[in-house]
Amino acid sequence: MPSPASAPRRFVRRFLDALPGDPETARTTRQVHGALWSPVQPTPVASPRLLAWSQPLADELGLDDATRDDPQTAAVLGGNAQWDGMAPYAACYGGHQFGNWAGQLGDGRAITLGELVGPDGRVHELQLKGAGPTPYSRRGDGRAVLRSSIREFLCSEAMAALGVPTTRALSLVGTGEQVVRDMFYDGNPAYEPGAVVCRVAPSFLRFGNFELPSSRGDVPLLRALTDFTIRTFFPELGPPGPTAYEAFLREVAVRTGRLLAQWQAHGFVHGVMNTDNMSILGLTIDYGPYGWIEPLDFRFTPNTTDFRERRYAYGNQPSVALWNVARLGEALLPLFDGREAPVEEALAAYQQAFGESATALFRRKIGLVSAETADDAALLQELWQWLQAAEVDVILWLRRLSQVARQATAPTAMPAELLACWYGAAETGHVAAGLAWLQRWHARVQGEPGGAAAAAAAMDGANPKYVLRNWLAQEAIDAAQAGELGRVQRLLDVLRRPFDEQPEHEDLAQKRPEWARTKPGCATLSCSS
Ligand code: AMP
Ligand code: MG
Repeated sequence: MPSPASAPRRFVRRFLDALPGDPETARTTRQVHGALWSPVQPTPVASPRLLAWSQPLADELGLDDATRDDPQTAAVLGGNAQWDGMAPYAACYGGHQFGNWAGQLGDGRAITLGELVGPDGRVHELQLKGAGPTPYSRRGDGRAVLRSSIREFLCSEAMAALGVPTTRALSLVGTGEQVVRDMFYDGNPAYEPGAVVCRVAPSFLRFGNFELPSSRGDVPLLRALTDFTIRTFFPELGPPGPTAYEAFLREVAVRTGRLLAQWQAHGFVHGVMNTDNMSILGLTIDYGPYGWIEPLDFRFTPNTTDFRERRYAYGNQPSVALWNVARLGEALLPLFDGREAPVEEALAAYQQAFGESATALFRRKIGLVSAETADDAALLQELWQWLQAAEVDVILWLRRLSQVARQATAPTAMPAELLACWYGAAETGHVAAGLAWLQRWHARVQGEPGGAAAAAAAMDGANPKYVLRNWLAQEAIDAAQAGELGRVQRLLDVLRRPFDEQPEHEDLAQKRPEWARTKPGCATLSCSS
């Protein structure tokens, strides 16, 4: 039976038509001046095969089942074919990496296929990651391995389900090719299966897109990019000009502050917060060596490249993002006629947005949804100090706290479901201190105007039961590498509803098993993916 025809797809060229491109079409690595993008075709792969597909995102994009099942779709999303209207390019940007200006970076393995108009008129950039070399590949091969592609695919969709602003992922395509990676930079390169993820966002513009022309003194190019960005993505700020430029920087700062509050509240550690990995729209972008807090440790980073300095550790993320906003502010200085006041104001706006959002999110996690009382800040702070000292699984501990809130009387001993959250033996002193905190908090939460039941319900909507713990991702990766994709699909489905109980998936809501403490991919990851 012939398959039903796919729905029509319409592409626009907002970025390409508005902004100067590189006249050169070769893939040769080079410095690109006076242009914000380079035309480049994906390099075809041996045998593209659709391994996973995000149905809710496909629905948003207006891609129907016939599209999903059409063999041509795997070819397009693997880089071997194109839909009418696509016009592939790699973006030119720079960035500060680990605190130092790195000059031109650019899309070294990402290629935007085009801007798709969804059924509701919203425009979505479709971008392949791992689609082959571009002028920005430097020494890289332009490819991505299956393990890191699964991680990006799953975490993009999991973050969206948590309500955290993020780029999305439509598809995971196996290339049928092998890619060489030295996973730990220790002189042991090995072949791994290759893959391509199709990422989706209104735009993948980064702080670094603005930094590069500014660093080169190309103010007209910087202005053209900023004008385009304001007109296209921030129309509410008014027509581009001095007032809108200041408001733009402030708005990016505010969105970044709110994003960081969400990362901190959920215990998400990005791992590589370089300015080229900071979205101008305030989205989580570039999932690499990220990880989740299980026992609370402000020094935790999953990124082996950052083990010595721990610049991008959990506890440093809010101040690093502030530093990054300052770099964006510096880049925009030529648009402020050299006045530094707009940058100072944006930094203050970041701090205010982060502070207010974080306070609201952390309060909600412990059921404090009404007006703040005098002791609330101390109650929260004590909990966070205690969580650092007692080695408990924060995700489970917070999730199970709502059960205590629902009890009419305060606990007189550490509840069994909380005792089960300890890694190793629970120390008597920590248990006693935890119980004392629970008793104070229980009294406070009973006094919530909506009652403890309403507070508990709010907590259940703020403390996810299911997050993409590194070892869960690794188990799915190990299975996928052995040809079994059921685990990826199951995680995708369960993480779609992170706040629901889903009792049949209890095994995905467990503290980190002992074997995962040091296993590569679970405890440690490198940028080499
Ligand atoms: P990341 O640390 O993943 O944000 O990458 C930093 C820079 O390195 C970006 O310009 C990437 O495009 C580039 N890059 C990373 N991996 C590769 C690769 N395999 N081939 C080419 N460029 C890469
Ligand atoms: Mg990057």
